[in-house]
Amino acid sequence: MAQKKKLELDVRGMTCDSCPHHVEKALRRVAGVETVEILGWQSNKATLIVQPEVTGEDLTASLERAGYSATVKSTSTIDDAVAQTHASPNGYGDNDFDLLVIGAGSAGFVAAIQGTDLGFRVGLIGHGTIGGTCVNVGCVPSKTLIRAAEAWHNAGHHPFKGVNTQQVNLDWETVRTQKDDLVSQMRQTKYADVLAAYPKVTYIEGFAQFTKDGKLQVGDSTYKANRYVIATGAHPRMMDFRGLEEVEPLNSTTLMELEKVPKSLIVLGGRAVALELGQTMARLGIDVLILQRSTRLVPAHEPEIGRGIKDYLEEEGIGIITGVEVERLSRDGETRIVRARVMGQEREYKADQILMALGREANTRGMGLENMDVKIGQNGAIIVDKYMRSSNSAIYATGDVTNNPEFVYVAAAGGSVAAQNALTDTKKPLDLLTVPGVIFTDPQIATVGLTEAQAKKEGHKVKTSTVSLEHVARAQAARDTRGFIKLVADETTNQLLGAHILAAEAGEVIQSATLAIKFGLKIDDLTDTLFPYLTQVEGLKLAAIAFDKDLTMLSCCAV
Ligand SMILES: Cc1cc2nc3c(=O)[nH]c(=O)nc-3n(C[C@H](O)[C@H](O)[C@H](O)COP(=O)(O)OP(=O)(O)OC[C@H]3O[C@@H](n4cnc5c(N)ncnc54)[C@H](O)[C@@H]3O)c2cc1C
Repeated sequence: MAQKKKLELDVRGMTCDSCPHHVEKALRRVAGVETVEILGWQSNKATLIVQPEVTGEDLTASLERAGYSATVKSTSTIDDAVAQTHASPNGYGDNDFDLLVIGAGSAGFVAAIQGTDLGFRVGLIGHGTIGGTCVNVGCVPSKTLIRAAEAWHNAGHHPFKGVNTQQVNLDWETVRTQKDDLVSQMRQTKYADVLAAYPKVTYIEGFAQFTKDGKLQVGDSTYKANRYVIATGAHPRMMDFRGLEEVEPLNSTTLMELEKVPKSLIVLGGRAVALELGQTMARLGIDVLILQRSTRLVPAHEPEIGRGIKDYLEEEGIGIITGVEVERLSRDGETRIVRARVMGQEREYKADQILMALGREANTRGMGLENMDVKIGQNGAIIVDKYMRSSNSAIYATGDVTNNPEFVYVAAAGGSVAAQNALTDTKKPLDLLTVPGVIFTDPQIATVGLTEAQAKKEGHKVKTSTVSLEHVARAQAARDTRGFIKLVADETTNQLLGAHILAAEAGEVIQSATLAIKFGLKIDDLTDTLFPYLTQVEGLKLAAIAFDKDLTMLSCCAV
């Protein structure tokens, strides 16, 4: 008996989400076509199972009549049993979904939208408050609190410097309520309303875990999909110090939700969250002491940035001690105590509350990833390649649950890449060579590309240029000349490799440097470009000019 055939077609002319539908219709018009599988219009590919008598010419002719062209890439015979497994409309057997996205935060939303935009059946599984970290307990609440404290500080209400002889503290309840209002408004518009606008995405509520037989269990139900994207995020890491349970330290989430702020606060940590929230609390009138284990703050950044931000925070009255090895935590009534070793000496520090800001741990525990051979690395993070694919080729992951940088824009971009690669043959990588990063202290810290040390390690012959904000007219006009801009370049090619900024509004300046690095610009490209006077970003051009020129010899403007 003649056997059925499996054909793979290269289809040209698919340019939109509805094209796969038209192509499928045209192919099904040919008598004897049993199944058609098209992985999105970008795949340019259709896989068919057909009766023995169907020829490639029948199929291409039908496609041409519908306005598409095609060539037969491969033909093979197939037995009936295998053919049966391809019998569902999308070619995925009895699976419930083409794509199941686990985690309804920023990354999960993007992955689900991308999947449905490509024309696939998508389920989105959410556990906890919809929207995840950024909108609920991360970027949005922290940045609005930072801005409130900054405005209060800039208006002269400085609890430490004695600008006001009487210390006036900002009303925490009002600020917290306004923060909560903004969070719920943005959660509604950016998540709840957006989900409603995509009725084709099936939303499933509950904690998802893989079972031993390769299904995904959510509550009492189990689901199966052809592909999965895991986007379950991370949670604050609570280091297992002795006395942890007695002291119950705060984390970034619980600190921002406090009903009443403490009089004094010890912050354990010296990176983004520790510095942002430490400075904010200090500006609200709380006595803040930062204890950092490394010998400097923000140790992954240029050393000058660590030293500079330490000086500025100390000027505001924030205590900072580096090289601190915490030994144990304890409590005496309402006082929390940190016992530590600093430069070989036993030390004791006391405060009303302790904020633990020592990084985050991926949300992978209890998900049954071992049942799916998904490899996990440091801090429980899923290891992914540049296509966001895990060690299981049917499972992709993105965002804070992976080993990628913990920024929401990285998580979201990864969500789009993960869904495209999971569902189509695009093989699109996530470009992580130029990831700008901003720490929202005042002054801000913003960096992109290689540090001087990294550039040397990569074998570049390195040259650097550092310009104080005193040379930037915008900073002078604003009477805030704190900080500097440091550029790292390759001396041989003159190509910009890195930009490292400590300055007011550094987060706005860094994007120009990001574009310059991403598109391989050279220092001359920056010096030959017009930068508007008086802007902070003009400092970037001044730093480029300063590779070869003494800035004090310049007249007006960076020319
Ligand atoms: C205080 C703070 C400030 C920050 N500020 C910034 C900033 O200014 N700029 C910036 O870019 N980034 C910032 N970040 C980082 C940013 O918030 C994260 O990178 C981003 O939110 C990660 O998104 P995600 O989708 O990977 O994870 P999340 O947004 O955490 O989403 C994961 C979702 O999955 C759910 N989930 C977990 N397990 C399961 C399961 N088994 N089944 C179903 N659902 C599950 C979780 O409940 C959550 O809803 C900040 C973070 C913090 C903590």
